[in-house]
Amino acid sequence: MTATPGARAARDRIGDTAEQDLRALIGESVAVIAALTGPEHRVESANPAFFAALGDEPARLGVTLAELLPEHSVIGVLDQVYRTGEPHTARDVPVQLGTGAHVREAFFDFTFEPRRADGDAITGVRMIGVETTQVKHAQRLMAEQRVLVEQIARQAPLAEVLDGMARCIENLTPQQVLVSVLLADLDGLHLRHGAAPSLPDFYNAAIDGIATGEGIGSCGTAAHRREPVIVTDIGTDPFWDDFRDLAQRAELAACWSTPILARDGSLLGTFAMYHPTPRVPQDSDLALARIFAGTASLAIERHHIEQAKAAAEARAEAARTELAEALRAEHKLRAEAEQRAEAAAELATRMRSAAAAQADAPHPERCQLGGPEGCTAPAEIKIADSWGDAAWGCANHVEEALLNVRSVFIASEELGGLAAYVNR
Ligand SMILES: [Zn+2]
Repeated sequence: MTATPGARAARDRIGDTAEQDLRALIGESVAVIAALTGPEHRVESANPAFFAALGDEPARLGVTLAELLPEHSVIGVLDQVYRTGEPHTARDVPVQLGTGAHVREAFFDFTFEPRRADGDAITGVRMIGVETTQVKHAQRLMAEQRVLVEQIARQAPLAEVLDGMARCIENLTPQQVLVSVLLADLDGLHLRHGAAPSLPDFYNAAIDGIATGEGIGSCGTAAHRREPVIVTDIGTDPFWDDFRDLAQRAELAACWSTPILARDGSLLGTFAMYHPTPRVPQDSDLALARIFAGTASLAIERHHIEQAKAAAEARAEAARTELAEALRAEHKLRAEAEQRAEAAAELATRMRSAAAAQADAPHPERCQLGGPEGCTAPAEIKIADSWGDAAWGCANHVEEALLNVRSVFIASEELGGLAAYVNR
């Protein structure tokens, strides 16, 4: 099968976007550079990125590295380079940056080189670091995303996949983020709860079933527009007029929503990232949202296909059951009809022999069983009932009476009415 030029172009475009998203996720690495001097590694000079990354205070020269990174393994490496004059490279070195509430774990690739005076004596160490935190985050996210795609491929339940996806993003994103996935109704006009493991239940319950449309929160609007809607401050954004109190109760201050679209462009749901403080997204945040909206799309489309398959199977099963029942009913009716035909044949035989036996007995000329209208057919057979009443009738009326009146039987002249009834 060969792709049409149009399809190939579309696929290349998708490929390009995905690659750009990955690049945005990894971000641009900034190098930190510092010239350290003396055995205590005092900062003689450093670029602004060095202080931005390692210092929680305004840039200050003359500080020792031990003051910036107390008890860090880097100090031991610096001591070694200073002592031996051998350069050293270390990859993905974890560094605790910042203090208190702002502390975060970062990863750096470091290169340490000895600095030498004219007389070749070592005067200090030059330190060059490239932060790899984002690269590591992106690698972990990609690894998690691959796990999700594998889950989707082996048809794990949708709720499980979406829940796992939400938790993965919440755990791996450096800033606090709460993820929500809403699923579009078939008509595309309402959004249903999909997954939001970290949002409060009252919030999820209130959002379940919201309409899609312009100005209906971030998600309703994103679903309606079929494009991302970034609300950086729920407190002031008019889209949130109807949901502001609800959001405040849930302590949500920003909501970025990305529509989840099927390959044919139809709406499958929304993927939202909530934040406890007002926030403007970085390129990497938007890239992350696009990547996981794509993953969610895969999961939901797969789910729809499975559902359709299950429904088709259920319909086929129902048709099979119905057919089996129809066959059973037909069989039963045919058996009953055969029984009735046999009974009718037997009755006809009995009536014929009764008519023959009674042919010579005195009897009225005309049928007495015609009711008020009377019957002009000749009387042929005598019937009686258990109370001793007897009458002569034509074959048709006698048959009718024998079939419909329980106590009626063909009378026998020899034994009399009741005796015939009792003895039969
Ligand atoms: Zn009659």
